[in-house]
Amino acid sequence: MFSERFDQLVQALRILPSVGPKSAQRMALHLIMKNKQGALALSEALSDAADHIHECSICHSLTENEVCDICLSQDRDDTLLCVVESPADVMAIEQSGSFRGKYHVLGGHLSPLDGIGPEEVGIPALVQRLAEGQVAEVILATNATVEGQATAHYLVEATRHLNLKMTRIAQGVPQGGELEYVDSHTLSQAVHNRMQMK
Ligand code: ZN
Repeated sequence: MFSERFDQLVQALRILPSVGPKSAQRMALHLIMKNKQGALALSEALSDAADHIHECSICHSLTENEVCDICLSQDRDDTLLCVVESPADVMAIEQSGSFRGKYHVLGGHLSPLDGIGPEEVGIPALVQRLAEGQVAEVILATNATVEGQATAHYLVEATRHLNLKMTRIAQGVPQGGELEYVDSHTLSQAVHNRMQMK
Protein backbone atom coordinates (compact mmCIF):
# COMPACT_ATOMS: atom_id res chain seq x y z
CA MET A 1 0.00 0.00 0.00
CA PHE A 2 2.67 2.54 1.06
CA SER A 3 5.60 0.66 -0.30
CA GLU A 4 6.61 -2.79 -1.37
CA ARG A 5 8.70 -3.18 1.79
CA PHE A 6 5.74 -2.27 3.97
CA ASP A 7 3.63 -4.94 2.26
CA GLN A 8 6.44 -7.45 2.75
CA LEU A 9 6.56 -6.64 6.46
CA VAL A 10 2.78 -7.09 6.76
CA GLN A 11 3.04 -10.44 4.95
CA ALA A 12 5.90 -11.52 7.22
CA LEU A 13 3.92 -10.67 10.37
CA ARG A 14 1.05 -12.82 9.17
CA ILE A 15 3.00 -15.99 9.86
CA LEU A 16 2.25 -15.39 13.57
CA PRO A 17 -0.63 -17.44 15.00
CA SER A 18 -4.02 -15.66 14.98
CA VAL A 19 -2.66 -12.59 13.19
CA GLY A 20 -4.93 -11.60 10.31
CA PRO A 21 -4.31 -8.90 7.68
CA LYS A 22 -5.71 -6.06 9.84
CA SER A 23 -3.63 -6.91 12.93
CA ALA A 24 -0.53 -7.41 10.80
CA GLN A 25 -1.03 -3.97 9.27
CA ARG A 26 -1.52 -2.41 12.71
CA MET A 27 1.65 -4.08 14.02
CA ALA A 28 3.67 -2.97 10.99
CA LEU A 29 2.47 0.64 11.37
CA HIS A 30 3.28 0.60 15.07
CA LEU A 31 6.78 -0.75 14.50
CA ILE A 32 7.65 1.65 11.72
CA MET A 33 5.96 4.82 13.02
CA LYS A 34 6.08 4.52 16.80
CA ASN A 35 8.95 2.26 17.71
CA LYS A 36 11.67 1.99 15.12
CA GLN A 37 14.22 1.20 17.85
CA GLY A 38 12.03 -1.65 19.07
CA ALA A 39 11.57 -2.85 15.49
CA LEU A 40 15.32 -3.14 15.02
CA ALA A 41 15.76 -4.90 18.37
CA LEU A 42 12.92 -7.28 17.46
CA SER A 43 14.48 -8.06 14.12
CA GLU A 44 17.84 -8.78 15.74
CA ALA A 45 16.33 -10.94 18.50
CA LEU A 46 14.31 -12.89 15.94
CA SER A 47 17.22 -13.59 13.67
CA ASP A 48 19.46 -14.48 16.64
CA ALA A 49 16.87 -16.85 18.10
CA ALA A 50 16.14 -18.47 14.75
CA ASP A 51 19.85 -19.01 14.14
CA HIS A 52 20.73 -20.47 17.53
CA ILE A 53 17.72 -22.20 19.09
CA HIS A 54 16.87 -25.73 18.05
CA GLU A 55 15.58 -29.02 19.44
CA CYS A 56 17.53 -30.90 22.10
CA SER A 57 18.72 -34.14 20.54
CA ILE A 58 17.47 -36.15 23.54
CA CYS A 59 14.19 -34.63 24.79
CA HIS A 60 13.24 -32.42 21.79
CA SER A 61 12.69 -29.39 23.99
CA LEU A 62 14.55 -26.22 22.99
CA THR A 63 18.20 -25.44 23.53
CA GLU A 64 21.16 -23.59 22.04
CA ASN A 65 23.36 -26.65 22.51
CA GLU A 66 23.27 -30.22 21.25
CA VAL A 67 21.67 -31.34 24.55
CA CYS A 68 19.61 -29.11 26.89
CA ASP A 69 20.45 -28.25 30.50
CA ILE A 70 17.63 -30.40 31.90
CA CYS A 71 18.83 -33.52 30.05
CA LEU A 72 22.41 -32.82 31.19
CA SER A 73 21.50 -32.16 34.82
CA GLN A 74 22.94 -34.61 37.36
CA ASP A 75 20.50 -33.37 40.01
CA ARG A 76 17.40 -34.60 38.25
CA ASP A 77 15.84 -38.04 38.52
CA ASP A 78 16.58 -40.10 35.37
CA THR A 79 14.00 -42.72 36.34
CA LEU A 80 11.08 -40.26 36.01
CA LEU A 81 10.11 -39.11 32.53
CA CYS A 82 7.40 -36.54 31.89
CA VAL A 83 5.93 -36.66 28.38
CA VAL A 84 4.46 -33.38 27.11
CA GLU A 85 3.21 -32.00 23.81
CA SER A 86 5.35 -28.88 23.50
CA PRO A 87 8.28 -26.95 24.98
CA ALA A 88 5.66 -24.51 26.37
CA ASP A 89 4.47 -27.36 28.63
CA VAL A 90 8.04 -27.96 29.84
CA MET A 91 8.21 -24.26 30.76
CA ALA A 92 4.84 -24.41 32.57
CA ILE A 93 5.80 -27.50 34.59
CA GLU A 94 9.25 -26.08 35.38
CA GLN A 95 7.63 -22.85 36.59
CA SER A 96 5.32 -24.86 38.85
CA GLY A 97 8.44 -26.32 40.49
CA SER A 98 6.64 -29.64 40.93
CA PHE A 99 8.87 -31.95 38.94
CA ARG A 100 12.50 -33.05 39.29
CA GLY A 101 12.69 -35.72 36.60
CA LYS A 102 13.42 -35.46 32.88
CA TYR A 103 11.20 -34.65 29.90
CA HIS A 104 10.25 -35.86 26.46
CA VAL A 105 8.56 -33.41 24.09
CA LEU A 106 6.37 -34.98 21.42
CA GLY A 107 5.96 -31.84 19.36
CA GLY A 108 2.19 -32.25 19.11
CA HIS A 109 -0.52 -34.85 19.56
CA LEU A 110 -1.97 -37.62 17.48
CA SER A 111 -4.54 -36.31 15.03
CA PRO A 112 -5.27 -38.95 12.38
CA LEU A 113 -7.67 -36.70 10.45
CA ASP A 114 -4.85 -34.19 9.93
CA GLY A 115 -2.46 -36.95 8.94
CA ILE A 116 -0.55 -36.74 12.23
CA GLY A 117 0.27 -40.27 13.30
CA PRO A 118 2.75 -41.82 15.77
CA GLU A 119 5.73 -41.18 13.48
CA GLU A 120 4.96 -37.45 13.16
CA VAL A 121 5.00 -36.93 16.94
CA GLY A 122 8.10 -39.04 17.45
CA ILE A 123 6.46 -41.90 19.33
CA PRO A 124 8.81 -44.59 17.92
CA ALA A 125 11.79 -42.53 19.18
CA LEU A 126 10.17 -42.20 22.60
CA VAL A 127 9.47 -45.94 22.80
CA GLN A 128 13.09 -46.55 21.88
CA ARG A 129 14.23 -44.16 24.61
CA LEU A 130 12.04 -46.00 27.13
CA ALA A 131 13.31 -49.40 25.99
CA GLU A 132 16.81 -48.39 27.06
CA GLY A 133 15.59 -49.18 30.57
CA GLN A 134 16.65 -46.14 32.57
CA VAL A 135 13.10 -44.84 33.05
CA ALA A 136 10.87 -46.49 35.69
CA GLU A 137 7.85 -44.17 35.58
CA VAL A 138 6.38 -42.20 32.70
CA ILE A 139 4.15 -39.28 33.61
CA LEU A 140 1.82 -38.59 30.69
CA ALA A 141 1.30 -34.85 30.74
CA THR A 142 -0.27 -34.37 27.34
CA ASN A 143 -3.08 -31.79 27.28
CA ALA A 144 -6.51 -32.63 28.73
CA THR A 145 -8.01 -32.30 25.24
CA VAL A 146 -9.52 -35.18 23.25
CA GLU A 147 -6.31 -35.47 21.20
CA GLY A 148 -4.10 -35.21 24.28
CA GLN A 149 -6.06 -38.01 26.01
CA ALA A 150 -5.94 -40.18 22.88
CA THR A 151 -2.18 -39.65 22.66
CA ALA A 152 -1.74 -40.68 26.32
CA HIS A 153 -3.78 -43.86 25.76
CA TYR A 154 -1.85 -44.66 22.62
CA LEU A 155 1.42 -44.37 24.56
CA VAL A 156 0.16 -46.78 27.23
CA GLU A 157 -0.57 -49.32 24.46
CA ALA A 158 2.68 -48.68 22.59
CA THR A 159 4.73 -49.42 25.71
CA ARG A 160 2.75 -52.44 26.96
CA HIS A 161 5.73 -54.71 26.36
CA LEU A 162 7.97 -52.61 28.62
CA ASN A 163 8.06 -52.91 32.38
CA LEU A 164 7.03 -49.32 33.12
CA LYS A 165 4.71 -47.53 35.49
CA MET A 166 2.56 -45.10 33.50
CA THR A 167 0.75 -42.27 35.24
CA ARG A 168 -1.45 -39.48 33.97
CA ILE A 169 -1.77 -36.00 35.41
CA ALA A 170 -5.44 -35.21 35.67
CA GLN A 171 -6.59 -33.69 38.93
CA GLY A 172 -7.18 -30.00 38.59
CA VAL A 173 -6.37 -29.72 34.90
CA PRO A 174 -9.73 -28.78 33.38
CA GLN A 175 -11.15 -31.01 30.65
CA GLY A 176 -10.11 -29.55 27.33
CA GLY A 177 -7.39 -27.64 29.13
CA GLU A 178 -3.97 -26.93 27.68
CA LEU A 179 -1.18 -27.16 30.22
CA GLU A 180 0.49 -23.90 29.34
CA TYR A 181 -2.65 -22.01 30.47
CA VAL A 182 -3.00 -23.80 33.81
CA ASP A 183 -1.71 -21.85 36.83
CA SER A 184 1.41 -23.09 38.61
CA HIS A 185 -0.33 -24.21 41.80
CA THR A 186 -2.95 -26.27 39.96
CA LEU A 187 -0.29 -27.78 37.72
CA SER A 188 1.88 -28.65 40.69
CA GLN A 189 -1.11 -30.41 42.33
CA ALA A 190 -1.85 -32.21 39.07
CA VAL A 191 1.65 -33.65 38.87
CA HIS A 192 1.57 -34.59 42.55
CA ASN A 193 -1.85 -36.30 42.32
CA ARG A 194 -1.14 -38.24 39.13
CA MET A 195 -3.12 -41.43 38.55
CA GLN A 196 -1.78 -44.80 37.51
CA MET A 197 -2.78 -45.92 34.00
CA LYS A 198 -0.68 -49.08 33.85
ZN1 ZN B 1 16.84 -32.16 26.51
